[in-house]
Amino acid sequence: MAEIIILMGPQGAGKGTQAQMLAEKFSLPIVATGEMLREVAKSDSPLGHRVKEFQESGNLVSDDILAEVISHRTSQEDCKRGYVLDGFPRTAPQTELLEQIAAKQGHNITVIKIKIPHEFLYKRLAGRRTCSLCGHIYNIYFKPSKQEGVCDVCGGELFTRSDDKEDAIRRRLSEYTKKTKPLVQYYAQTGRMKEVSGLGTPEEVFAAMCKIVEQAAQSH
Ligand code: AMP
Repeated sequence: MAEIIILMGPQGAGKGTQAQMLAEKFSLPIVATGEMLREVAKSDSPLGHRVKEFQESGNLVSDDILAEVISHRTSQEDCKRGYVLDGFPRTAPQTELLEQIAAKQGHNITVIKIKIPHEFLYKRLAGRRTCSLCGHIYNIYFKPSKQEGVCDVCGGELFTRSDDKEDAIRRRLSEYTKKTKPLVQYYAQTGRMKEVSGLGTPEEVFAAMCKIVEQAAQSH
C-alpha cells in the first residue's frame, strides 16, 4: 500500500478522530497540518511569529509556509508507505503541490469526504460544553448534563471554548465553504473522491472509511 489518504470535511465533522483510527488500523502516520503549525508557532523565530499571527486571526496560513512544512514532513522515512492527511490541502495551490509530491513519491491519492449538514455541525460545535475541572465534554443538544451548566462527573462548572463561540464557528465554516469546497469538486471530477456520512457513531463512520481504503488499496 502506498496511499495518501486525504480526509475532507468541515471542522467538527470528526476528521481528527477518524484520522487517528485509520492511522492505527493501516499503520500509517498522520500528517495534521494544524497541529504541525501550532508547534511551529511556539518557536521564537520569524517563521514562528508569522504562523502565530495567521493562526490567532483564524485565517489560513500562507501557501508558501505550508509548502515548506508539508514537503519536509512527507519526505521523512515513515511516510514511504503513505500517510493520512488531516487539514491539507485546503487551497488550490496546495492541491497542485500535493499532486507533484504524490507523483514524485509514487503514491496514489484517495480522498474521503465526511458529509454532514452544516446545521448539525453548528449544533455539534456551538452546543459543546466542557467541564472546567475534569475536561468532560457535553453537548446541550445531543448529550446534555443532568443539571444545566454543571458537570455530572465532578460537579465542576461547564464552559464554552473560545473557538466554539458563534462568531468563530461561522468564520471557520464560511472559510471552509469558500476555499476548500472547490477542492472537493476537483477531486470528484478526477474520480478520486469518495463520500461517507458523518452522522453515525465514530465506529460507523470508521467502518465505511475502512471499506473505501481497502478497495482503493486493492485497485492500485
Ligand atoms: P486545524 O487544526 O486543521 O483546524 O488548523 C488550525 C489552523 O491552522 C487553521 O485555522 C489555519 O490557520 C492553520 N492551518 C492548518 N492547516 C492549514 C492549511 N492546509 N493551509 C493553511 N492554513 C492551515
